[in-house]
Amino acid sequence: MRKGDELYLIPVEGDPLPPAGIPVRGAIEDERRTSLMRTHSGLHVLCGVVFRDYGCLVTGGNMEPGVARMDFNLPEVPPGFKEAVEDACNAEITADRRIDVRTLPRAEAFQIPDIIRTATNLVPPEVEEVRIVDIVGLDTQADGGTHVASTRQIGRLRVAKVENKGRGFRRVRIRIED
Ligand SMILES: [Zn+2]
Repeated sequence: MRKGDELYLIPVEGDPLPPAGIPVRGAIEDERRTSLMRTHSGLHVLCGVVFRDYGCLVTGGNMEPGVARMDFNLPEVPPGFKEAVEDACNAEITADRRIDVRTLPRAEAFQIPDIIRTATNLVPPEVEEVRIVDIVGLDTQADGGTHVASTRQIGRLRVAKVENKGRGFRRVRIRIED
């Protein structure tokens, strides 16, 4: 958790709190983190493609390592949507686009067209610096996640299922494969 420039590590519920002033060492589970970075970056590609080709915003999402879903405000599913989206995503992955991260002052960030890709702006009003994730040439958006350095590192993206969850509410399920 971050408050201003201070970073807070919160122990898991029930874990003992180390005494004040004691040095601690953390480690990241590399395999899980890498899989989440690939999956999350895959969601960016999906989001970028669906926005570019169908003009849809994101209304929800979730991910586990290697599997994820993203919800879009897509009124109708055009014929061949699933295959077209999968092909377009994999074309962007094969193009090996760079994924850049930078931070901009809020006012400047919000001047970038379509920087907020969720149907509601989730950036809290007190946030003064906005982190921008840019898949160069495909998709630029405000985002706080971890990503791979370029799209080819994602691997192959499969659109597993497109579900109709009600009026203008489509759920796209993806899998990330090697
Ligand atoms: Zn992200």
